[in-house]
Amino acid sequence: MSDPDATSRVALVTGGSRGIGRAVCLELARRGHPVAVNYATRADAAEEVVAEIEEMGGKAMAVGADVADEDQVTEMFDAVAEGLGQVAVLVNNAGINRDNLLLRMPTEDFDAVIATNLRSAYLCTKAALRSMLRARWGRVICMASVAGVAGNPGQANYAASKAGLIGFAKTVAKEVGSRGITVNVIAPGFIETDMTDALSDDVKAASLQAVALGRFGRPEEVAALAGFLASEEASYITGQVVMVDGGLAI
Ligand code: NDP
Repeated sequence: MSDPDATSRVALVTGGSRGIGRAVCLELARRGHPVAVNYATRADAAEEVVAEIEEMGGKAMAVGADVADEDQVTEMFDAVAEGLGQVAVLVNNAGINRDNLLLRMPTEDFDAVIATNLRSAYLCTKAALRSMLRARWGRVICMASVAGVAGNPGQANYAASKAGLIGFAKTVAKEVGSRGITVNVIAPGFIETDMTDALSDDVKAASLQAVALGRFGRPEEVAALAGFLASEEASYITGQVVMVDGGLAI
């Protein structure tokens, strides 16, 4: 289902090496986008995603960068421009959690989560907007979380970073909407990835109880929405927060 417009629209997915980001890379490639697969440490995993995309006849490159670091973000955008072209679709997906009740939370864990989850979106979106504004076309998609909408005990840092992403996305949507650029937020619920695999069985069982569909989600079920939001069909949708949570937040 390759979209003729998509083949000229380079996508950059932060944290594309694993989990939801990996599935988003594969979905965008399936739709025809050349894809830059960003990673922080797992070059091997990112190269595997690139190989999968190339096997399906697509174009891709792996690009290492800590997306919380301004210089590394600048270098990443330069490398992608040289390797594939200017970024037209940015997916701010990279994220970490350092869960703890607030009174036990080390300040460095608060700062690290805000930097990786929120500062990164500020740095990457700013870097991507230059070429999007010139092209008068662009798509920015931020991966937030149900925790950023509803809160979640033990995740004050994470929920704050995700709520911050929502305010950020709505504001940028208003700033650049007249230039054909949309900015939207996906808020996943409980999705099966390395991040949730690390949770205890008790926490998993309690989470499952609250999911109307009675199961956890798959990364592909989040990626399907990202692919749509990046497409031409989604041209009149901006500033929205769409939950992909199996009914967790109902
Ligand atoms: P994973 O832990 O499976 O993967 C995280 C990805 O982010 C990896 O590709 C990792 O790269 C990358 N990453 C981490 N830190 C950095 C950094 N500083 N710079 C660049 N890349 C980085 O996470 P998920 O796939 O589960 O989550 C993806 C996004 O979805 C996150 O923003 C998360 O908060 C959000 N989300 C996830 C939910 C879930 O249930 N899984 C629910 C709601 C939201 P590397 O491989 O190199 O380590």
